[in-house]
Amino acid sequence: MLDGTRVAGAIRAELAPRVTEFLAARGRRPALHIVLVGDDPASQIYVRNKERAGTDAGLLVTVHRLPASAPLEDVLATVRRLNADSACDGILVQAPLPKTIGKQGTEQVFDAIDPAKDVDGFHPHNVGLLVQGRAALKPCTPSGVIELLDREGQSLAGKYAVVIGRSEIVGKPMALLLLQRDATVTICHSKTPDLEATCARADILVAAIGRPGFVTPAFVKPGAVVIDVGINRVDSRDQAVALFGANHPRLVGFDTRGSMVVGDVHPAVVDVAGAMTPVPGGVGPLTIAMLLKNTLVAAEGRPRT
Ligand code: NDP
Repeated sequence: MLDGTRVAGAIRAELAPRVTEFLAARGRRPALHIVLVGDDPASQIYVRNKERAGTDAGLLVTVHRLPASAPLEDVLATVRRLNADSACDGILVQAPLPKTIGKQGTEQVFDAIDPAKDVDGFHPHNVGLLVQGRAALKPCTPSGVIELLDREGQSLAGKYAVVIGRSEIVGKPMALLLLQRDATVTICHSKTPDLEATCARADILVAAIGRPGFVTPAFVKPGAVVIDVGINRVDSRDQAVALFGANHPRLVGFDTRGSMVVGDVHPAVVDVAGAMTPVPGGVGPLTIAMLLKNTLVAAEGRPRT
């Protein structure tokens, strides 16, 4: 198992002296501002975790809450105010935005963020730099995966990597980062024919799909490195038993809470893979560690006020 929690802890430990140095030099803490629109339960949890991790790391974290009914103009106004605030280093707008904002509205909001404060690395300016291999602020989840592979001693150059999923936040940037590290990369999605056979050739297989246990052992070349980005909540005990078997220790947790979080990779893959990330405790903690790192990078890169 590739230990995301341990690696994330190591990254956070490296950031600590930089936070102290920043505070001493600028007389203030690096400041992360999170914009949360609406009351989506998963988003509330993600924001709470980011807030806690940021505060623990010595950052100043401020959450700006807007109601689900907030018009697009209010969300844009919040972002513009933060852009203009010289004491704000990083801006994160928690996705997804309410349905009323829509796809176009969401794009407008993310496009409005000052690229120098775009700690999620989603702004088209930063995406362009990422394509050219010179982004300072890279999307947190895929850059966390690269950190994990590096720090766990997994080489990338010359490897055949397959990424399942082509989202802007995980699949596409993941493929770009693997390519920059000299892997040969294939991106798969819901229209890919022979998905199983393509995946079964991969030395490194990244699953970013959003379907519990989708990647079964048949998708995995023996000895391959399997990265499970998926975070899926399973509420049905039958589904939990189908994934883990009736006597698995994780069923105890299910019975206590009435649900469990599972990845996109089937638990049985552990018998085939050479190395894999668990869920929870794999990619998730790295995403947060990289957000803290991006906030510090953004803060250090801004002119003194
Ligand atoms: P999206 O829904 O945006 O993208 C999912 C991708 O999976 C799409 O490209 C889709 O293809 C593809 N896909 C769906 N079904 C299939 C299928 N049957 N066969 C092949 N490909 C398929 O999700 P995200 O990228 O935002 O997230 C993916 C997962 O990662 C989710 O579980 C999410 O919760 C998790 N996540 C975890 C993070 C972490 O910190 N660990 C951070 C961000 C996300 P198509 O484009 O053709 O529709």
